[in-house]
Amino acid sequence: MPDCLFCRIAAKEIPAQIVAETAECLAFRDISPQAPTHVLIIPKAHYGSLSDVNDALVAGRISLLAAEVARTLGVAESGYRVVINTGPDGGQTVHHLHAHLLAGRALHWPPG
Ligand code: AMP
Ligand code: ZN
Repeated sequence: MPDCLFCRIAAKEIPAQIVAETAECLAFRDISPQAPTHVLIIPKAHYGSLSDVNDALVAGRISLLAAEVARTLGVAESGYRVVINTGPDGGQTVHHLHAHLLAGRALHWPPG
């Protein structure tokens, strides 16, 4: 999708602080971190949201990469949260599927 911010990051047309990359996915630092560790994990292929995914591999790869990045960044033991904001009430602002990996501080529940 030419006008999609995260498609352009996946294509390396817009710079990002990349922390991990696979053939299908990319993980990069959130530009406005909400925790000491805040990484976004995206499929390189465009899906508007989780609601548009019908391939279990896509959802699975994102989850596995989030866990791998947590290990790589040293937060797997202290713990982390993986969130996929979806739709207006979910707080989604960028309409390319992404998971947030948040860690480095105690996270509250329920979320706001
Ligand atoms: P969401 O609100 O769940 O759609 O999350 C979108 C996230 O993308 C927010 O946490 C933003 O801070 C983040 N974001 C927006 N633009 C960029 C960018 N150019 N590079 C990295 N993260 C970004
Ligand atoms: Zn996109």
